[in-house]
Amino acid sequence: MAAKEWILNKSQKELEEFCVANGFKKFGAEQVMRWIYSEKISDFSKMSNISKSLREKLDSNFHSELSKIINIHKEWDSGGDSKKYLIKLADEEIIESVLISYKNRKTLCVSSQIGCKMGCVYCETSGLGFIRNLTSGEIISQVLIVENDIKDKITNIVFMGMGEPLDNVLEVEKSLDIISNANFLSVAPRKITVSTCGLLNGLAGIEKYKYKIAISLNAADNVTRSAIMPVNKKFPIEDITAFINKRIPAGHNKITIEYVLIKGLNDSVESAKKLVRMFSPAKVKFNLIPLNKEKNSVYLRNFERPGDNVLDNFKSKLIKAGFIVTVRFSKAQSINGGCGQLRAEKIRSL
Ligand code: SF4
Repeated sequence: MAAKEWILNKSQKELEEFCVANGFKKFGAEQVMRWIYSEKISDFSKMSNISKSLREKLDSNFHSELSKIINIHKEWDSGGDSKKYLIKLADEEIIESVLISYKNRKTLCVSSQIGCKMGCVYCETSGLGFIRNLTSGEIISQVLIVENDIKDKITNIVFMGMGEPLDNVLEVEKSLDIISNANFLSVAPRKITVSTCGLLNGLAGIEKYKYKIAISLNAADNVTRSAIMPVNKKFPIEDITAFINKRIPAGHNKITIEYVLIKGLNDSVESAKKLVRMFSPAKVKFNLIPLNKEKNSVYLRNFERPGDNVLDNFKSKLIKAGFIVTVRFSKAQSINGGCGQLRAEKIRSL
């Protein structure tokens, strides 16, 4: 007998096709998905408004087991608290998700790949190499198991965990269809951010969904950006500025430019002035991220975080030019919970 498929990997359309092909009404698919994603009931036999024959058909074709949490790190500070989940997948691979709670907002940072191909030199995940893409079910499962753990609803999602989401764009889109569906996980598109290192071909595809977009820029000139982000050779800075100028109507859903500040490399006032000349405050805002270096990082040994005065000068140049600027200090830093780092540490300890 063929192995059962994982129902979390099925889109609504695929489940509707399954229902119709087996002589059931198409609506059965939506009913099943409401049980799984909205009611958090994954046992088919407990789906009381579904006919016994459909429940039996589902049970003989699908399983609905979630991925397993193997470790949770917690941290609290005056700005809220964070939890980093290490999650084991069916093939024993491990991924991470990070929950940041602040007042009523519960933001989950999800992974989209195991490892990453993009090779950004300031990133621990890059040091793991690329293992494989996550399926849509493995992405959605991160939301479900964290909601089950906290017994509360995730309000915001950011694709900023392991991997480049637009390098796995079909599975990411498929997961977003369920995450943002008001009948299922019900996270509003305006509360979902897809963060990319600048794979512009993938970006064009997800624009129609009205999710928020963040682009990691991390340098104000092509020489520096190519040295730290190989993707720049394919999509250089002028392509990113052209994309933003052409696609983003002024004053509408600004794109966030993520900028990891690395001491002596991209943190000069000159770099800040170049950014001011390059972008319009009507179309982008900046998120500055002082380098988050793991305590014992071998991979990042050549990079340092800039001092506070350098950060302040950089930030004030942008603010004076009219940009909205936020500074993100990783709450998870003291327990190595930045991008890819938690998993890197776990693997070292295995
Ligand atoms: S920063 Fe993002 S895109 Fe770059 S290597 Fe790390 S995970 Fe991949």
